[in-house]
Amino acid sequence: GKVLVSGANGYIAAWVVRSLLDEGFSVRGAVRSVDKGAHLRELFAAHGDKFELAVVPDIMQDGAFDEAVKGVDAIEHTASPYHFHADDPAELLEPAIRGTIGILESARKYGTAVKRVVVTSSTAAVLTVSDQPQLLSEVNWNDQAPREVEEKGRAASGAAKYRASKVLAERAAWDFVAKHSAEIGWDLVVLNPPLVLGPMIHAVASVDALSTSTRQMYNALTTPGAAGGGGCWTDVRDLARAHVRALQRESAGGERIIIAAGAFAWQDWLDAVPPASKYQKGTPGAGKDHVHLLRYDNGKSARVLGMEYRSMGDTAAAVVADYEARG
Ligand code: NDP
Repeated sequence: GKVLVSGANGYIAAWVVRSLLDEGFSVRGAVRSVDKGAHLRELFAAHGDKFELAVVPDIMQDGAFDEAVKGVDAIEHTASPYHFHADDPAELLEPAIRGTIGILESARKYGTAVKRVVVTSSTAAVLTVSDQPQLLSEVNWNDQAPREVEEKGRAASGAAKYRASKVLAERAAWDFVAKHSAEIGWDLVVLNPPLVLGPMIHAVASVDALSTSTRQMYNALTTPGAAGGGGCWTDVRDLARAHVRALQRESAGGERIIIAAGAFAWQDWLDAVPPASKYQKGTPGAGKDHVHLLRYDNGKSARVLGMEYRSMGDTAAAVVADYEARG
């Protein structure tokens, strides 16, 4: 089958494309310009005509994906802005929500071969901030961030603006499917990863061009004092595998699935890198004192998608090898 991947030049999506190709799928990668597709064309050259590009200049335009969805059997929608420095919340909310509804609308109208749509949401759409420890699952929804943005507008925190964009885009996707269930021949799967870490295969011109999650890892390993705090994580290669399995497993249809390896303190990553590497050491072992307020139940990903997760040691070694290869 052929799969449309939106935002194909992104950190996560490049791995999704690679995993799909490795599993025998053909891929149409949607990017904003021919230039943004150049690296992918090179990266996947060995796959010949099993990889093609579609240029979708503005995902907020009505009918933006009308051509791109034609003839594909499935869609992986990853394109969405991911940063914490928006002033006007609309900078994040509009492309997130309209991009999601737009690709679903194009699938409804022109995706006659589409059987399944996978949307990359986030644990940002699951979590609420609290000073009490929480174990969250797919039943949880973040109503806090949209409320903060509604009440405070531009004065809301950068994290709340991003999180609200993910909540509202995901809700819009589920609402769309509920409203149009009688007219569509496909079902929806939503994947909710926490912080995504691991090696990069997309185009990264320089340290300044690191994406939001890869920058956090780089800072933790290289910037003195930047390894405090923690979070929950998943390896980008595991998340890519989840995107493939979300297409392969019939029973995933209609499911919201958290894809999470576990909780970390940034110090744990300093401890996990190969001992001989040049990165800062911090205070080895101090990660065990970190209080993890948020944890995610990843049992559903194991049951529905058969997910198993890489260890921190595996991911840390791959990240360091990636940095070394880039010099
Ligand atoms: P990247 O920034 O590397 O990729 C984002 C992709 O979305 C790029 O292809 C980008 O295109 C595209 N995009 C962003 N804004 C727009 C827009 N306004 N119009 C069209 N395309 C746009 O981020 P990631 O790979 O990390 O994130 C991919 C997805 O995964 C997002 O939906 C994100 O919310 C989600 N996610 C990421 C997590 C992480 O820790 N990395 C955690 C949980 C969810 P361009 O290059 O042209 O800007």
